[in-house]
Amino acid sequence: MAKVKAVAKKKSAKTKTAQAPAVSIRGGSLEERQQRIREIIKILRKEYPQVRTALNYRTPFELLVATILAAQCTDERVNKVTPALFQKYPTIESLARARQEELENDIRSTGFFRNKARNIIALSKKLVEDYQGKVPDSMEELIKLPGVARKTANIVLSSAFRKAEGIAVDTHVRRLSERLGLSRQNDPDKIERDLMAIVPRADWLDFNYLLVDHGRKVCQARKPLCPQCVIQHLCPSFEKFSGLYAGRK
Ligand code: SF4
Repeated sequence: MAKVKAVAKKKSAKTKTAQAPAVSIRGGSLEERQQRIREIIKILRKEYPQVRTALNYRTPFELLVATILAAQCTDERVNKVTPALFQKYPTIESLARARQEELENDIRSTGFFRNKARNIIALSKKLVEDYQGKVPDSMEELIKLPGVARKTANIVLSSAFRKAEGIAVDTHVRRLSERLGLSRQNDPDKIERDLMAIVPRADWLDFNYLLVDHGRKVCQARKPLCPQCVIQHLCPSFEKFSGLYAGRK
């Protein structure tokens, strides 16, 4: 009898293992993450074929300004503000000459408007004085501009110049990198380094947009929609969040 029980126990353990998600160890080794991220990217590319920033822009400078305005603000809100802004200030030179208070009023609805206005005027002046009125196309030069950190530089480089010098880490990339076990870091620069070690370079350009799309549509901050997630079998957080849906039909 004891032997029968032991065999039954063994069988049930085997069944449980077979039903467990493909990713059982948080994050996994570097090789495991490199392999898993390739699969994740392949699936997300099919799911979100239109990879691009949601910000509207016509020139690298407009994208630079729009990205600065998008800090702590939605892309939709920024897209409502920028048409009138660029009609009023059509060139880098005109923004370099803008009055701080007036510009603050023009961009007030995007939040943190004092800081943003100060940075936009200062970077426009620097572009006019040091860069012949052109936005530079390298990470090294972009991060020298006032208010421009790696995230903003990466977005401008990937979208406006199609250059991959890194991976933009915003709130979605940060959240999904943690949930998908791709990085255990909190600091965006360290998360970016972790991602650059596992994401194939050919995918750096689009990686941010893929995670942003998935973060907005499915892996939302408050309640990720795990049951309908196309990468749930590759996600170590699937089990953690599945409790949210217990009893749901
Ligand atoms: S399974 Fe859930 S937590 Fe994991 S990526 Fe999908 S939605 Fe996000």
